[in-house]
Amino acid sequence: MKPEIEKVKVLIIGSGPAGYTAAIYASRAGLSPVLYTGGQPGGQLTITNDVENYPGYPNSVTGPEMMEDFRKQAERFGTQVRYGLATSVDFTTKPHTVVIDEQVTIHADTVLISTGASAKWLGIESETRLNGKGVSACAVCDGFFFRGQEVAIVGAGDTACEEASYLSNICSKVYMLVRKDEMRASQIMQKRVMNNPKIQILWNTETDEILGDDEVNGVRIFNNKTGEKSEIAISGFFVAIGHEPNTGIFKDYIHMDEAGYIKTIPGSTKTNVEGVFACGDAQDNIYRQAVTAAGTGCMAALDAERYLAEFEND
Ligand SMILES: Cc1cc2nc3c(=O)[nH]c(=O)nc-3n(C[C@H](O)[C@H](O)[C@H](O)COP(=O)(O)OP(=O)(O)OC[C@H]3O[C@@H](n4cnc5c(N)ncnc54)[C@H](O)[C@@H]3O)c2cc1C
Repeated sequence: MKPEIEKVKVLIIGSGPAGYTAAIYASRAGLSPVLYTGGQPGGQLTITNDVENYPGYPNSVTGPEMMEDFRKQAERFGTQVRYGLATSVDFTTKPHTVVIDEQVTIHADTVLISTGASAKWLGIESETRLNGKGVSACAVCDGFFFRGQEVAIVGAGDTACEEASYLSNICSKVYMLVRKDEMRASQIMQKRVMNNPKIQILWNTETDEILGDDEVNGVRIFNNKTGEKSEIAISGFFVAIGHEPNTGIFKDYIHMDEAGYIKTIPGSTKTNVEGVFACGDAQDNIYRQAVTAAGTGCMAALDAERYLAEFEND
């Protein structure tokens, strides 16, 4: 059988806020974009309940509902939304080549990478069971739900320190669970948490189990030097041990930082490869919010449109 090959002007990889926003702009610009959803249609927000910080939803909205709205809006202007995973790419060709599910080959004048990033988790059963019921990997997103309450956060890097400080402005107390007797974070960030009276750092401390049936009500911890176990009452459990951008398939072509975040040319979504643009969490290790992802999705579509206009005039 002949391999299936299709030619498109704009190919969008990923269906989170960045991908769908790029699709809305590209379809309204008459570029007939094709968007592949990947394994998590709707992206990271589909695993969260209330989204209270996305403008335009004054009464809050669930993550799945909001992403359904994004999809409908993109489809309304003619975006073709398809289920499928980009499994390999070749960005040395023009048009660029992207293979979907190892079967379908797409030749695309422009490729918009919006594959997001995934939070790293501890990998214990109670963390999965109570995810969205008090367990979160995003203090900025979910801290507000625990205002005036006691919470714990796991991690020892700059992000963990930043999120602990953020939580201390909202919560009555923050336990910071640190696996070693030192932190990876920069001195300035360490100082900030150590001098914060609302943050208590528990050194050499690991999580045995997050406690609660329907929602988090505590955590059982253990000291990895003495083996001693103890329980603390908390209502929120935050995991801040890092994120992994979903950018592995692009690494032979696209410049990235050491963590795998795509490097874009400042003030744009352009990558080092002409016609390939990156938006959302795949290129943002700082803000990681739906609204910032959507903002860069808009930028990527506008950058692609301008690139195509030049390309067609060549
Ligand atoms: C539990 C939780 C709660 C959150 N709550 C909030 C909140 O309240 N407010 C807020 O602003 N932000 C929140 N965030 C952060 C927000 O979800 C992200 O910043 C945002 O979703 C990033 O959007 P994105 O489009 O860059 O990527 P993502 O949403 O991560 O979407 C990535 C998309 O790429 C697809 N994909 C990946 N690899 C491939 C591939 N090879 N081929 C095709 N597709 C692929 C995936 O299937 C997915 O559709 C939360 C995050 C989490 C995890």
